Amino acid sequence: MPRPIRATIFPAALRHNLNVARRCAPQSRVWSIIKANAYGHGIERVFAGLRGTDGFGLLDLDEAVRLRELGWEGPILLLEGFFKPEDIALITQYRLTTTVHCEEQLRMLEQARPAGPLSIQLKMNTGMNRLGFRPEQYRAAWERARAMPWIGSIVHMMHFSDADGERGIAHQVQAFDATVVNLPGEASLSNSAATLWHPAAHRHWVRPGIMLYGASPTGIAADVAQFDLQPAMSLTSEIIGVQQLAPGDTVGYGSRFTADTAMRIGVVACGYADGYPRHAPGWGDTFTPVLVDGTRTRMVGRVSMDMLAVDLTPCPSAGVGTPVTLWGEGLSIDEVAAASGTIGYELMCAVAPRVPVSVADGD
Ligand SMILES: *Cc1c(COP(=O)(O)O)cnc(C)c1O
Repeated sequence: MPRPIRATIFPAALRHNLNVARRCAPQSRVWSIIKANAYGHGIERVFAGLRGTDGFGLLDLDEAVRLRELGWEGPILLLEGFFKPEDIALITQYRLTTTVHCEEQLRMLEQARPAGPLSIQLKMNTGMNRLGFRPEQYRAAWERARAMPWIGSIVHMMHFSDADGERGIAHQVQAFDATVVNLPGEASLSNSAATLWHPAAHRHWVRPGIMLYGASPTGIAADVAQFDLQPAMSLTSEIIGVQQLAPGDTVGYGSRFTADTAMRIGVVACGYADGYPRHAPGWGDTFTPVLVDGTRTRMVGRVSMDMLAVDLTPCPSAGVGTPVTLWGEGLSIDEVAAASGTIGYELMCAVAPRVPVSVADGD
C-alpha cells in the first residue's frame, strides 16, 4: 500500500464555482485562470469542470499546447504574453491570445510580421507596477499595435493591486477609464476579488482564478462565506500511529508542544514534504485546525517532513486508520493558510509531486 495521503479534485465544485463567478458578473465573459498548473490542481484534472468557461488564461506556452491537446478550441490567453520572437509562431499556430505589456513585445511583433490575425490584450499599468504600459504611454502603444495589419482585436487590460483590500480599486479604474476614453475595444480588468466585490469593474471580460478553486482572494475564509464557494481540492490522509501522553510529555522536534494533562495524540501521514506548511503552528496561542473523522481538532507540535501530530481529545474513538482531512470539505484551505501566515493560493500550488492525486467521480 502507498502512504494514505492523497489530494482529490472535485470537478462538480469547479463547475459550481464557475457558475458563482457568472452570477457575480452576468454581463461579462469569463477567462478562467489556470496558471501554475491550475493553481496546483492540474490542467488535465480541472478541464472537465471548467470547460463551460469562455476562455482560459495561463502563462506557459506548453500549458496552452496541453489545453489544445485536450480538445479546447476556444480562446486561450497568455497572461504574460511571449518572451522571445520565436514564440510568436507558436502563438499563431495554436491561435492564442497574447498579452502585450511592454515596448520589447511590440517591437518583436513589428519585426515578426506573422500571418495574422492575432488577438492581443494590451496591458496598462495603472498602479500595480508589475506589467504594463503607464497610462501616458498607453495610447501610443495602442496606435502602434493598431497600425500592424496582422493584429486583429485589441482588448484593453489591467490588473488590480487592492481589489481585496482597504485601498480598493477607484484610483486604478479612474486612470484606466481616463486613458481609454474614445478608444474602441473591449476591456478586461477583474481578478476574483473584483469579480466578487466590484461590479463596476466587470466590463466585457472578468479573470477569476482563486475563487474557481473555492478559496478567498483575501486568504480569509469568512470573507467569501456568503458566496457558497466549494473547495475544488481536498488533502486527506490517515492516522498511522497513536501515542498516550502523560502531563509534561512533549511532541515532536524541538519539543514545542507540552501536554498539560494526560491526552492521546494521533500521528498523521502528512508532512512538509507533501506540501503541508512547515510554519503551521501547533503550540502557543494559535493552533492549526485539522479534521479527524470529520471532527475538528488541532495540530500539535512541529510539522516534520513526513508526519504531523493531532490532538485526539475531541475524537476518543479515533485510532490507526482513521481518516484525516488536512483541508477540503468542512475545513477551508484558507483557515489552514491563515494559521500558517500565508494564503490558500500558496498552499494549493505547493502540494508536492509525491502526493497521489485523484479526480472525484460524479458529474
Ligand atoms: C493570476 C491572475 C488573475 C487571477 O487572480 P485571482 O486573484 O486568482 O483571481 C487574473 N489576472 C491576472 C493578470 C493574473 O495574473
